[in-house]
Amino acid sequence: MKVDAIIVGQGLAGSLMAWQLLRGNLRVLVVDRDEAVTSSKVAAGLLTPLTGSRFNLSEAVIERLNYALNFYWELENDHDAKFFHHQTIARLFRNPREKKAWEDRLRKDPGKLEEFHSPLGALDESITATGGGFEMKRGGWLDVPQFLEVTRQHLLERISYAIGDLSADDVSMTDTGVRWKNVEASKIIFCEGWMGNQNRFFDWITMHPALGEILDLKIPALESEKRIINSGGWMIPRGNGIFRAGSTYRHDFDRIEPSDEGEAEVMQKIRSITSAPIEVIDRRAAVRPIIKRSQVFMGVHPEHSNVAFLNGLGSKGVMNGPWYAARLAQHLFTNAPLPEEADIRSNLI
Ligand SMILES: Cc1cc2nc3c(=O)[nH]c(=O)nc-3n(C[C@H](O)[C@H](O)[C@H](O)COP(=O)(O)OP(=O)(O)OC[C@H]3O[C@@H](n4cnc5c(N)ncnc54)[C@H](O)[C@@H]3O)c2cc1C
Repeated sequence: MKVDAIIVGQGLAGSLMAWQLLRGNLRVLVVDRDEAVTSSKVAAGLLTPLTGSRFNLSEAVIERLNYALNFYWELENDHDAKFFHHQTIARLFRNPREKKAWEDRLRKDPGKLEEFHSPLGALDESITATGGGFEMKRGGWLDVPQFLEVTRQHLLERISYAIGDLSADDVSMTDTGVRWKNVEASKIIFCEGWMGNQNRFFDWITMHPALGEILDLKIPALESEKRIINSGGWMIPRGNGIFRAGSTYRHDFDRIEPSDEGEAEVMQKIRSITSAPIEVIDRRAAVRPIIKRSQVFMGVHPEHSNVAFLNGLGSKGVMNGPWYAARLAQHLFTNAPLPEEADIRSNLI
């Protein structure tokens, strides 16, 4: 079998990479372990344009955001699917400092922010919003498992998907690219998630994975709430009074499973948002692939230019991933330069 690229891993990173290559009419083979629990399968999928302690919205963030929203929208249209949910985010201030930071930001960048916010509408009486807040526009959440499934079906139809564990030790270099088993490819792109540095090509990259726990909650009193509520902790309405809520963020972990401590930590965040009765109906845990904060890292191996890497999607993979995957595809197949901040070779990591 001959393909343009083998993609290792079909999480968010591998899926985004596959779509970018398919759009360029390239032939891919995606190999994935098909694990039940991965970061992408557990992720809340939030896309939040205004974040950080100063609510800064740089031109680069706007470019990545616009790219991501268009990307998901076009895919949904082309494949008659639904996985991105545009939803207003009720951003409640946690303290007077946050409120001041927002007011300062509004004074500084009124024009740029115009399409991103509106005044906070009425909230259920059980929701604590004494410090005020605003409604954030142009955000929402990606149903990541649904996105993965649509991607997988599309790949299956093209005989471009295989379940398997691809070991870097079984990859050899050829005159024209790489070989893995009976597959010859021009490139191989490792999108392996939080254990992405446990292969012989990229063991020099330091990763700082973070365990995250989220809960599914039943809150009948908030059944009519349609907005995502964010105030440190966050709650995404999934219909019928069910909310996905989170999350924890822990670098020191020895097991990947939901814990009582994780549940208590998330519940404490949610309790600071609402006093309504809550029933915990499910809890999940997975590990976020993080290299440096939410900076995607990618590029080619210093000695093997046909061996590439896409990882570090962190907590903002849904927003940043599509734009960076597009840049990597262009770099690999048209020699376009990589964004410097993301290039594994120009960063000591
Ligand atoms: C609790 C939690 C909440 C989160 N919330 C958000 C959020 O709100 N917004 C957001 O943008 N991000 C969020 N994230 C982060 C998001 O999940 C990640 O950024 C993203 O999904 C990572 O995708 P990935 O493809 O790099 O890794 P993964 O999802 O880990 O995928 C890697 C895939 O590669 C496969 N694989 C690995 N090695 C091999 C191999 N050798 N052979 C074959 N297959 C292999 C794995 O089985 C897996 O399917 C959250 C994460 C967690 C845990």
